[in-house]
Amino acid sequence: MRILVTGGAGFIGSAVTRLLVLERGATVLVVDKLTYAGDRRSIRDCEGRHGFRFLEADICDLERMRATMAEFRPDAVMHLAAESHVDRSITGAADFIQTNINGTFAMLEAARAYHAGLDAAGQAGFRFHHISTDEVFGSLGPEGAFSETTAYDPRSPYSASKAASDHLVRAWHETYGLPVLVTNCSNNYGPYHFPEKLIPLIILNALEGKPLPVYGDGSNIRDWLHVEDHARALALVVERGRVGETYCIGGRAERRNLQVVETICDLLDQRRPGAAPRRGLIRFVADRPGHDRRYAIDCGKIEQELGWRQQQSFESGIAATIDWYLANEWWWRPLREGKYAGERLGLLPQA
Ligand code: NAD
Repeated sequence: MRILVTGGAGFIGSAVTRLLVLERGATVLVVDKLTYAGDRRSIRDCEGRHGFRFLEADICDLERMRATMAEFRPDAVMHLAAESHVDRSITGAADFIQTNINGTFAMLEAARAYHAGLDAAGQAGFRFHHISTDEVFGSLGPEGAFSETTAYDPRSPYSASKAASDHLVRAWHETYGLPVLVTNCSNNYGPYHFPEKLIPLIILNALEGKPLPVYGDGSNIRDWLHVEDHARALALVVERGRVGETYCIGGRAERRNLQVVETICDLLDQRRPGAAPRRGLIRFVADRPGHDRRYAIDCGKIEQELGWRQQQSFESGIAATIDWYLANEWWWRPLREGKYAGERLGLLPQA
């Protein structure tokens, strides 16, 4: 397959790209603007491989996306490029509206023009796969789980912009017949995760003996999925998913944020014993505005239809992730000390 991957230098996009290029032998063109969250070092193992190409470009540039599709002639587009950090969306939503909504619009228009120009054989095979989040569904109470039929109820600028993009994708299917697939996934973790996000932030702060900021009382619940399990699910959907369908993807691994932080502390204490247990570094900080209480996903549909299963339990996945960060300081050190270090994000402890 020839696959155009947007956002392929980001966290999940790089895992998808590595899977497609290194394990599946696909021909892949990564289109990425290389924002603060994009890093070509995350796909350096793909560089120079037969069938791999990288294009630094903005998905909002419709003419460039049109020309790129006409030239590359993909069998599928996997659209992951987005602004993805909820805290940043609260302090500055403009980039989220631009990339997540207008950028998705540009990708859809470019795909529509490309699809219209294909012959009957090409049209039958082409698919546009939009990668989205479970945060579009809002917040759950103590019971229940999100599924493909859950009504949308986004509550942060990030999730609202992703919800808007999901609606656009479905509208382009209904109105113009664009062959689309949508996936909504729970929280990912794993290697090459930008160090502003909860799990890498906690691993690296704990490693360096710095405070471990936890929002509110730490009781918010997320469902965690290893990024490589997500990438395998996405590859299955793009290859075998039914056009026009939505698939929810989750880890079946609900954990309170405080539990996650304590697990990381204990595993790091075993690997790199410090002067005192790292749980003592935990600091509760003012809660995020509009913080969703609980997310959980019913992923029965993708399990039954496509035979997908999580291969990593949360316990084995988080241990492997800690080991990855310990072994790959070359990747995260420049990000911690570079352009991101000076920024004051909600998750960073207040002075
Ligand atoms: P990320 O922030 O790590 O990566 C985003 C990538 O998109 C970066 O490489 C960035 O340079 C690129 N990008 C941003 N704006 C662009 C633009 N205008 N043009 C071209 N490239 C641009 O994000 P991620 O965590 O890998 O998430 C990828 C996708 O998966 C997003 O759509 C996100 O909503 C979705 N998602 C993420 C999670 C999660 O837990 N991280 C869970 C479910 C769904």
